[in-house]
Amino acid sequence: MLTRYAPSPTGYLHLGHVVNAIYVWGLARAAGGRVVLRMEDHDRIRCRPEYEAGILEDLAWLGFVPDQGLHPLLRQSDRDAIYREALERLRHTHHVYACDCSRKRIAGEHYDGFCRTRGLTDGPGRGLRVQMDDGGDLLLRDRDGNWTYHFAVTVDDVQQRITHIIRGEDLLSSTERQLRLRRMLGVAAAPDYVHHPLVLKPNGEKLSKSAGDTGVRELRRAGLTPADVIGRAAAAVGLIGAARPVTADDVASLFLKPEP
Ligand SMILES: [Zn+2]
Repeated sequence: MLTRYAPSPTGYLHLGHVVNAIYVWGLARAAGGRVVLRMEDHDRIRCRPEYEAGILEDLAWLGFVPDQGLHPLLRQSDRDAIYREALERLRHTHHVYACDCSRKRIAGEHYDGFCRTRGLTDGPGRGLRVQMDDGGDLLLRDRDGNWTYHFAVTVDDVQQRITHIIRGEDLLSSTERQLRLRRMLGVAAAPDYVHHPLVLKPNGEKLSKSAGDTGVRELRRAGLTPADVIGRAAAAVGLIGAARPVTADDVASLFLKPEP
């Protein structure tokens, strides 16, 4: 079993990221598997080096250690050649085309294939899409030249031979498209998916990156220990009944059935 922890350096870690770390390390340790860390910095506009440094510092403070180490640190921004190669492979077997539609014109997640037959040339200000059987042609590279989340993450998971993808249930709706993209890239085997509950605000919204009172650094500054923070995150999604200290070394116990 090989899984990954893949934060985006677009903000600091909050309890939602801690929940994901509990599931990733907990399920991996419980099954004797390994964890790799991948910085998902495919969006060059929103990612910042200080967030990356902050994430690494917070993870070390919490005690979550990736098995492949941090040197070299695996970053999507260093993998341009790999994405280009995957794009070329995709072009051999599928219709990849340039698209200059604005977000406003598309209005929503489902793309209607407007540019499919326009024959636009690839260039600045134009994204790249791949035609999919049922429409909804997936964006591979956006109009700013960034590889998209769906494309980068799918190529990475294939190339790194990730066997288990453990992530929040907000990403459930993208699973089918990512599996289809894998098959289009010529990969028949599908990984196992685990979609876990999210920490929500009292009003039911997802936590944001600027979630002050749930930020790991804020909780640390308020005097909580790493085990306090992990315990609070585990309780927030019902992994334990009430918050109690849980160390990073002990998260596997949350997923092991008690001895009969
Ligand atoms: Zn278009």
